[in-house]
Amino acid sequence: MGTNSLFSAPPDAPAGRFGPLPAGKPLVPSHFVDKLDTLAGTGDIIGVKLYPGFELFYPDEDRCQAIYKVCAKHDIPVVFHSGETMNEPWREEYNHPHEIAKVAAQFPSLKLIVAHFSQPHLADCRDVILSNANVYADISGLAHPDVTRICGTEVILSILEEVASQQPEKILFGTDWPICSVGEHLKLVRSLTVSEEVKTLILSGNAERVFALESD
Ligand SMILES: [Zn+2]
Repeated sequence: MGTNSLFSAPPDAPAGRFGPLPAGKPLVPSHFVDKLDTLAGTGDIIGVKLYPGFELFYPDEDRCQAIYKVCAKHDIPVVFHSGETMNEPWREEYNHPHEIAKVAAQFPSLKLIVAHFSQPHLADCRDVILSNANVYADISGLAHPDVTRICGTEVILSILEEVASQQPEKILFGTDWPICSVGEHLKLVRSLTVSEEVKTLILSGNAERVFALESD
């Protein structure tokens, strides 16, 4: 996305891909990647969350690749913060689902999770999930009153139901607690017009499988 994107860059930003780091600079130093490799190997880390938009990088940049390779090696998912970021819409260009889809194509065996269902970009998130076998989304934040007001509760429910009816294994529970209410997020899932079996997948089964959690 360039200057005609959905999002307006800040007035002092250069056109196109803008960011404060030199293009070749790694997102994290190599000793961090080594530590990640070790901790993922011992099971002390079960996933990684990256914050494009909060930090000015695009998910498909070369400097992120070392992280993806380690996560793919250990089969642990990468979660991307996506959608509304600091109430500054221009930041959403960095974490839009279409940017995450580029990583999905680069690393087809790596599980990717779009956090917050990329709200308010719910329809784009739905399309990316449904068309990429390795992309999932969590619903954290969707029950926040600001989000239900901006996106509309009916729209949220219908998009979740659409994904749940086609690929029920793709939606993961999340709350963004303590910013958001756990109870409201439970209520959101319980109000979906889907089977009890699918609700259980969303509330626990999907996360247990994607994060390889022990279940007793
Ligand atoms: Zn987030």
